Amino acid sequence: MQESLLDTQFVDVILPVPIPGLFTYRVPKDWEPFAKIGARVVVEFGKGRILTAVIVKMHDVPPGTYKAKYLQEILDNTPSVTPTQLWMFQWVADYYMCNIGEVMNMALPAGLKINSQSKIQLHPHFDRFDDLEGLEKIIVLALKDSETLSFDEVSNLVQIKEISPVLKKLVAKHAIIIFEEISEKYKPKIEKRIKLKRVYEGSMEVLQLIEKLEKSSKQQEIVLAFLSFIPVQDLPIHNKNGVAKHKLIDEGRSESSLKTLVKNGIFEEFEQVISRFADHPEPVGEIILSEKQQETADEIMRQLSEKSTVLFRGITGSGKTEIYVDIVNQVINSGSQVLLLLPEIALTTQIVSRLRKVFGKGLGIYHSKFSDNERVEVWNGVLDGSITFVVGVRSAVFLPFQHLGLIIVDEEHEPSYKQFDPAPRYHARDVAIVLAQKTQSRVLLGSATPSLESYFQAKNNKFGLVELLERYGDAKLPKIQLVNLIEGRKDKSIERDFSVELLTALRANLDRKEQSIIFLNRRGYAPYLNCQTCNWIGTCEQCAVSLTYHMGQKSMVCHYCGHHASAPRLCPVCSSPNIKAMGTGTEKIEDDLGDLMPDARVARMDLDTTKSKNAYMEIIERFEKGEIDILVGTQMLSKGLDFDGVTLVGVFNADKMIHFPDFRSPERAFQLITQVSGRSGRRNNAGKVLIQTASPDNRILDYIVNNDYESFYETEIEDRKAYNYPPFTRLIEIIVKDEKQDVAHKAAAVLADNMAEYLGKDRVLGPEKALVERVRNKYVFEIWIKLEKEKINMAATKTFLLNQRIDVLAQKAYKSVRIIFNVDAI
Ligand code: ADP
Ligand code: ZN
Ligand code: ZN
Repeated sequence: MQESLLDTQFVDVILPVPIPGLFTYRVPKDWEPFAKIGARVVVEFGKGRILTAVIVKMHDVPPGTYKAKYLQEILDNTPSVTPTQLWMFQWVADYYMCNIGEVMNMALPAGLKINSQSKIQLHPHFDRFDDLEGLEKIIVLALKDSETLSFDEVSNLVQIKEISPVLKKLVAKHAIIIFEEISEKYKPKIEKRIKLKRVYEGSMEVLQLIEKLEKSSKQQEIVLAFLSFIPVQDLPIHNKNGVAKHKLIDEGRSESSLKTLVKNGIFEEFEQVISRFADHPEPVGEIILSEKQQETADEIMRQLSEKSTVLFRGITGSGKTEIYVDIVNQVINSGSQVLLLLPEIALTTQIVSRLRKVFGKGLGIYHSKFSDNERVEVWNGVLDGSITFVVGVRSAVFLPFQHLGLIIVDEEHEPSYKQFDPAPRYHARDVAIVLAQKTQSRVLLGSATPSLESYFQAKNNKFGLVELLERYGDAKLPKIQLVNLIEGRKDKSIERDFSVELLTALRANLDRKEQSIIFLNRRGYAPYLNCQTCNWIGTCEQCAVSLTYHMGQKSMVCHYCGHHASAPRLCPVCSSPNIKAMGTGTEKIEDDLGDLMPDARVARMDLDTTKSKNAYMEIIERFEKGEIDILVGTQMLSKGLDFDGVTLVGVFNADKMIHFPDFRSPERAFQLITQVSGRSGRRNNAGKVLIQTASPDNRILDYIVNNDYESFYETEIEDRKAYNYPPFTRLIEIIVKDEKQDVAHKAAAVLADNMAEYLGKDRVLGPEKALVERVRNKYVFEIWIKLEKEKINMAATKTFLLNQRIDVLAQKAYKSVRIIFNVDAI
């Protein structure tokens, strides 16, 4: 029998799954007034899979090919997702060639997605206890005690990991019911507060009350404490919000006396939802810009009134943060919201503490080391407008701003603004620019070493351009020198990996009690272990790379798949004990310094030493306090850190960075080395940088030494133009993977051939083996598509590509292949 669908309301929703398109659900009649665009709903997808979805459209057309299920729940009274965000999800999905559900899933903090957990309860009509066997009895008895149990709880109870078989039998015997418990993950933080009963609000009444309590001094003490927080006699209105309960019983005041006061109707206890960020200090500091900085800020504001995007190149130590503060203040005061994007958490700790001093509570912080609940609070604060200024990492660009005025992208050249895995493979800077266009807001890109793409746009008048080429105060840019390793090798003066020049400078710095930084872009102790007898090298079983030796953990680790193996003492092939660690990583530098400079306090900052939540902060604080003399680290050190005492930076492996086989290597090397160099001499003491190199004539090094961004840009952009690389083209990287090498290769070849036929051979490169040709047991091939911006219809090309993927994967031989599109690959 056909149910009448007349007048039925349907909604199209985004589901957090990697499947194209929207899904239609039916709205129960009573709920119709509550179904709104942007509201989160709970739906069943497939059999028993419970998901949080977001409504994008309401209509009365039933889906053609399937029967729409009812919504299970509507989670929002007022929508959590704004129309602008819905638009942005779709834009990102289209542009970066992924599904809208993947975008939404990434954008919504986990705390806004419901938690569906399977629970078990006793069947209400079950009475045949005698039919049960051993384990089954234990479970049923436990269920009689507690209403519901989770799978984990049952598993613990019976001490068995795989409990599904037992549970299945219990279901068959109608003894239990398994259901999905839905609970909203986000838990507001609730505080118990105390206020005076209204009758005591007047000044006379308060005095009488204090007198009345003369005999019970403990109670009187609490009332007096209350009055010290809220002088009710003068300001009765403040009584309404009361005082946090814990404050009244601080300093040893009696909790039971407080209880008595509540019981006797003098105080009233109530609960209030409070912000997790409530405890932050009130703003104190005010920043006074130097004349030059003020001119720069004014010029930025002027250009922002004309251009939707402005690039600000301010050299290291010029005070970009201070200039941002000035601009942020202006925008906030005009009633708009501001987002400041930072590339990584390493940076946020220092900048956030600087910004807190200026903005206090109005500042929201959004990054992955924050808890779910904290992130939901920022989300809601941005949505209701109570947070006017957010500092966050790339995903903060997806927050629900209502009246966005400005997005600042600090260190805009940083590759970490691009997400690589999983989809959406978006670039937060580029999404910010698109979002600003959509919302008529503005974007300020800041960097000492702008990306070629952005500088090119600025030179061509697409972006505004403001430059500040002097440091704040008396600080000068450091003196950068090259140290020729070839000569050191000839006269055998190199100790471990240290040139005489670097060691001498490090020792002199230590004597002067000044701090040093050593930069090496390779973590671990050594890139590989090598048997000196039979030439065995430790390699990953799953990937085509050597295993990095980590001495502290006595293990060999794959930096691609994370595979660990303990480091052998004897060669696994020939049993020779003669195994040597080859090459150098940060851990070895740290270790060597221990031998070479036993008096120096050395610490290390890389991925391995900053895994825990507060590790960054601890290292940074110790260095700030002068408890570390030499800090050894990877590119983490290059990101905007600001230390007073650093006057020497040593750079290892510069040549490897420059010659890495990728067309962006010169740019990367220039940026990285210039940025780490910029950590030196940021105060009055003159700074120095020593770069160890075996190719001192390299032109990139020359530009670095002379701080010559302009010339670097001019030569590099010529090369890009000559070889048709960005910014003259857009790149789409296609990654093809399979467990069988020939299958991956053939699938990639088919794809490349079809693309070449459609676009012309010159626009398609590959397939070629990836640099690491096997990762996690899959062979990897790459195809690169270069598309000139003006000549090619991007949308049509992307559609063609997506269809090609469908065609290839539909062929039986290629069923197991994975094909990934990475738009604007970097
Ligand atoms: P950048 O990010 O451009 O490398 P920073 O913003 O870190 O530079 O500024 C460098 C240092 O100079 C910081 O310690 C900063 O506090 C200080 N500084 C910059 N401008 C001012 C100012 N106007 N008043 C006080 N200190 C400043
Ligand atoms: Zn051997
Ligand atoms: Zn591996």
